[in-house]
Formats: sequence, structure tokens, C-alpha cells
Amino acid sequence: MSTSEYRLDTQCGYVAIVGRPNVGKSTLMNHLLGQKISITSRKPQTTRQQIVGISTEEKIQIIFVDTPGLHLGQEKALNKFMNKTASAAIKDVDAVVFLVDRLHWTDEDEYVLEQLKAAKCPVILAINKIDLVANKDDLLPHIDKISQIRKFDHVMPLSALKGHNLENLHKLLSSVMPLSLHYYPEDQITDRSERFLAAEMIREKIIRQLGDEIPYDIAVEIESWKFEGRTLHIHAAILVARNGQKRIVIGEKGARLKSIGTEARLDMENLFETKVMLNLWVKVKGAWSDDERALKSLGYRDE
Ligand code: GDP
Ligand code: MG
Repeated sequence: MSTSEYRLDTQCGYVAIVGRPNVGKSTLMNHLLGQKISITSRKPQTTRQQIVGISTEEKIQIIFVDTPGLHLGQEKALNKFMNKTASAAIKDVDAVVFLVDRLHWTDEDEYVLEQLKAAKCPVILAINKIDLVANKDDLLPHIDKISQIRKFDHVMPLSALKGHNLENLHKLLSSVMPLSLHYYPEDQITDRSERFLAAEMIREKIIRQLGDEIPYDIAVEIESWKFEGRTLHIHAAILVARNGQKRIVIGEKGARLKSIGTEARLDMENLFETKVMLNLWVKVKGAWSDDERALKSLGYRDE
């Protein structure tokens, strides 16, 4: 009788993408995956909860964890929640990508660097948005300065948006993933439900189109979701804190709401690969970002 020996030849692990708000973490994850699952915008604090993006290339699966930016200013319940999520992500992963925005070093970067002391895995310093750096020679002294505060396993300049150096980053990360069975099926790209992704896409369009006119404490609730034939019908409510905000989101003769809906629908049709009918309305719900209980009911759960 012979015993056949089973030798593991697949790799799988977690990579946390961390950094202060707005350095390009979500953009990086989307472009590494080649799919838009995490929303992005010019406004800080677009990402509120941790989102997992899964890349499977033959034997290697990398599970990227896009975190809300670690940031100073802890007074609101939502802020506290976002910081806790981001620092928890650092502890249990197989690699960390610490993302910074060119040479723009701030107290918040310093704060993230401080949190990285808890990391027990390889940490890669990734200098993002190099497409905007005219003189690349300026990068070296800056990298030296940050490297004196902490030693990094690798330093990599890149552009998440333009795709510069992403293949190298992917290769590097692949090389440090531990031997393991894959945690997800190879066709799965995120741990989030389609409903969650749909709500996020609506939120992205609001943030992008209304930018400074509206504080970031808006939320989207999917109220119904059903297929009729091949068309997916979605009803969603946009929750705002005040009546004035409701007027802004609806816009002149409903024009703003319509344009938010159109853009969100196109994103959904792309991601879900089906025709979508999207119905949006706006509801005033008070200042929910200050209320821990309201956060829970909207799915910002502390796990
Ligand atoms: P996050 O808060 O760290 O997740 O940042 P986002 O991914 O939302 O990106 C913030 C802003 O920076 C968005 O407007 C992105 O388009 C922009 N951005 C991200 N990466 C790059 C890059 O490599 N080059 C340039 N020019 N812009 C970028
Ligand atoms: Mg983000």
C-alpha cells in the first residue's frame, strides 16, 4: 500500500493597503484588480469601511484589504470606527503596502507610520502619484528621510491611476504570499455583496458631483432589489442630515439626482454585467454620523 504525499503548491494571503486619506489606496486596489469595486474621489474619507478585493492568478491568490484612511481627529463616532478598522487591518496580514502621496508628508502620514510598528510582516513603502512628479530626482532624498524613521522591506514609486509599476508591485506581493489553500473561489473579486457595492456607487457619485457642497456624512440604503427578466430593478434612498442638503442632492428640477442616478447606473451595469433600472429618492435622517447606533443599523458594524 502506498501513501501519496500531498504537497501544497498554492499561495494565498492578505495585503493591507494603508495610508492617510486621499493618497490613492482605493484607486490602487481597483487598478491592481482591474475592476472597480472600491469607490474613489478627490475628497478625503470616501472609503468608510474595509473592503476586500481578491486577485487570483493561477496558483497565487492575493486578498487586498482597502482600509479607510487612518486619520487624526477622533471626535465623531464614524471617525473612531474608521481608525479602528484601519489599525486592526495592519496586525493580521501577510504584507502591508504603506501608500504616501509623492513628497507630501504630513502629521497623518507620521501617525500611520507609528501604527505600522504593530506590523509583523513585510512592509512596502509605495510612493504614489509619481505621474504628477516633474523631477523624479526629488524623490530620493524624501525616501531617505522616511526610511530613517522606519526601515522598509521595499520602496516602490508608482502611479495607481496610470498603472505605472503596478505589475512589479503585484509580482513583489505574490512572492511574499505564504503557501496556503485559496480562501476564495477564483472568480470571486470581493467579499462584499452586490447591494453594498451598488450603494457605494451611488455614494461615490454624490461625493464626486457635490464635493464641497455637502458634508461626507451621507448614506445610501438599498430598499429593494429584484430582477424582472434580465433587468435588475433597484430602489435606493439617499439619507441626508438636513433639509438644505436634500435640496442640494435633488438639484434644480431634479437634475442633480438624475445625473447621480445615471452615472451610478452605468457603473452598476458594468460591474454586474446586466441592465439596471435605478430609482433614487432622498430622505432626511438627522446627523447619523454622530450616532453609534445609527451607524450599526446602516451596516457600519464593529467586528
Ligand atoms: P484613498 O482615500 O486613499 O482611497 O484615495 P482615492 O483612491 O480615493 O484617491 C484620491 C484621489 O487621488 C482621487 O481623485 C484619485 O483619482 C487620485 N489618485 C489616486 N492615485 C493617483 C495617481 O497615481 N495619480 C494621480 N494623478 N491621481 C491619483
Ligand atoms: Mg479610499
